[in-house]
Amino acid sequence: MSTGQKQSALQTGNQEIERRLLDDISLDTPWPVIEAFAGLVRTSGSAEERAALEILTDKLSAWGVPFQLHEPTCFISVPLAATVRVVGQQGRSFRAKTSAMSVSTGGEEIEGELIYIPADSARQAAGDVISASIDLGDVDVRGKIVITEGMPFPGKVSAVTTGGAKAGIFVAPGQNIHESICTTVWGTPDLDSADRIPTLPVIAVNNPDGAALIAQAKQGARVALSTTLDTGWRPIPVLVAEIPGTRFPDEFVLLHGHLDSWHVGIGDNATGDATMLELARVFWQHRDQLDRTLRIAWWSGHSHGRYAGSTWYADTFAIDLAKGCVAQVNCDSPGCRWADTFNELSAMSETVPFVNQVIEEVTGITPQTERPPRAGDFSFNGIGLSSFYMLSSTMSDEARAEREYYAVGGCGGNIAWHTEDDTLEIADRDNLLRDMRMYGASLLRVINAPVHPVDWRQTTAEFRSTLAEYQAAVGDAFDFIPALREIDALDASLERFYAACADPDESRLAGLNGVQRRLGRILIPVNYSRMPDFRHDPALNVPPLPDLAPALTAASAKADVAQRGLLTAHLQRGMNRLVWALIQARETVDAALV
Ligand SMILES: [Zn+2]
Repeated sequence: MSTGQKQSALQTGNQEIERRLLDDISLDTPWPVIEAFAGLVRTSGSAEERAALEILTDKLSAWGVPFQLHEPTCFISVPLAATVRVVGQQGRSFRAKTSAMSVSTGGEEIEGELIYIPADSARQAAGDVISASIDLGDVDVRGKIVITEGMPFPGKVSAVTTGGAKAGIFVAPGQNIHESICTTVWGTPDLDSADRIPTLPVIAVNNPDGAALIAQAKQGARVALSTTLDTGWRPIPVLVAEIPGTRFPDEFVLLHGHLDSWHVGIGDNATGDATMLELARVFWQHRDQLDRTLRIAWWSGHSHGRYAGSTWYADTFAIDLAKGCVAQVNCDSPGCRWADTFNELSAMSETVPFVNQVIEEVTGITPQTERPPRAGDFSFNGIGLSSFYMLSSTMSDEARAEREYYAVGGCGGNIAWHTEDDTLEIADRDNLLRDMRMYGASLLRVINAPVHPVDWRQTTAEFRSTLAEYQAAVGDAFDFIPALREIDALDASLERFYAACADPDESRLAGLNGVQRRLGRILIPVNYSRMPDFRHDPALNVPPLPDLAPALTAASAKADVAQRGLLTAHLQRGMNRLVWALIQARETVDAALV
C-alpha cells in the first residue's frame, strides 16, 4: 500500500467514525439537563452552581468518564442591589442594577451633580461591546455623576473613571437592564494588573428611565445612588473531564465553556454546558477510535470574575497547554432560538479553512468567520493556542432587525441575554442538535487528523493585509518592508512544509505536528497580545499585530515632532518583535525539513 492509499484509507475510516459518532448525538441527555439548569441561578461559587455541577459530575461518574474537580480561590464579584433617585422633593426613584467588580457603596447613598455625556457610537467597534468607549472631550466631570448610553463595560467605565467622576450611570438600549462586569482585569488580578480594579460606583438603568434621567441632567439635577456588591476571594469550581487518545495521548483538544450564569442563563450558557456533557458522553463511547485526547472543561468565574476559571486553568496548566494543546474550542450560547446562521463566528486565521469546511459539510450553512474579540474565555492567547468558536450560531441581521433587536454578546442574538428573561424558551431543540453535531465533527476532525488542520499561510496572509493597512496609514513616515521580507521567507518555508505534510510517513507525524503547534506559540502572541508570554492583556480590544496598530494614528502625529518621535520608536520596537517572531517561526519550520 502506498502512502497515498494509506492516507485515503484513513480518511475513509474517519468519515465512517464521524458518521457513527454524530448519529449517536441526541437530545436525550442534554435537554433534561437544560431543564434542570432552568431552576438554578448559577452565581460563581454559589450553592445553586454547585447543584448544577453535581448534575454534570453525576452523569460523568455514571458513564465512567474520568474527571477532576479543581477548586481554586479566585477574585469574584457579585452585584446584589442598587438604587438611584433624583434629589429633591419631587425626586423620582428608578429601577437599577450595578455591575460586577464596580465599587460597592455598601448600600450607602452618594450624591452628586448629574452630567450627560452622549456616547459616540463611532467609537464602538462592531460587535465589540466590551471595548466601546466614550469621549469626554473638554468636559470636566470631576466629582460629578456621569450618565451615558450603553452597557457598563470596561471601555466606558475606564473612560468615566479616568475623567475623575464620582460614579457612572449607564443607559441600556432597551427595556431590559443587562447584567455586566466592568473590570479590564482579565481573571484574578496580579501585581501588574491590581491597580486596574475599578474604583467607580456603577449603575445601570433601562432605556426609558435613562431618558428621564438624561432630561433631569440637562436641567442640572442632582442624583443620589447606592450600590451593594459582594466582592472578594472565594473558591470556585473548575471541572475538567479527559478522554485519552489512543495514538497520541499527549496531544489534546480543549473544549470549554462557562458553568456560572447570570440568573438561570439558559441560552448563556446552560445550552453550552449541556452540549459539552453530551459530547463527553459520545466521545467516551467512541474512545477507542480517538487518536488524540479530548479535554472538556466547565469553568466558573466567567460572569463574576472576568473569566477567572479559564484564566486560572491557563495559568496553572500553562506549560502542559503550551506543549500539547492542538486547539482550544470555546462553547458559549449554542442552540438558541432563531439562531440559523454562523455569521459571527470567531476563528483564528490558521483555522478558517478547516472551520468553513466542517460547518458547511455538517450543517449546510456557510459561516462568516471573524477575528476573535478580546472576550469569551479566550484566556489562552498569551500561550499561543490556535482557537476557534466563542459564541456559536446566531440570528441573521435581518432576523434581528425584524425584531428591533440591538447587539448583545450571547444567547444567539436574543436580547434576553444577561437578564431574568434568559429562560427555557431561549433554547431551541433543533438548533441545539445541529450545533452539538457541528461541535462534535469539529472536535473529531482535529482529534483524528493525521496532521493538525491549521494552515499558517492563512496567518501570514492576514499579517500582509494588516501591514498593508498600517503602511497606508503611516505613509512614508515608517517602513514595514523588513517585516514583509521575513513574511516572504517564512511563506517559502511553509510551502515546503505543507508539501511534506500532504503525504507524511507515520514516523514523521509527531515532528510535523510539533511544528504546527510551535508556530502557534510564536505567531499568536505577536498578533493577539501586547504582554509578555503567559500574561493576560486587559479586557479591551486588541487590534491585529497590536504593537504596530498605532500606525493608524500617524495622520494626527504628523505635524508634531514629539508625537512623531514617540510613534516611530513604538513602531520600530513593535516591528523588531514581529521580525524576530517571523525568523523564529521560519527556523522552526526549516529545522523540521532537513
Ligand atoms: Zn456566555
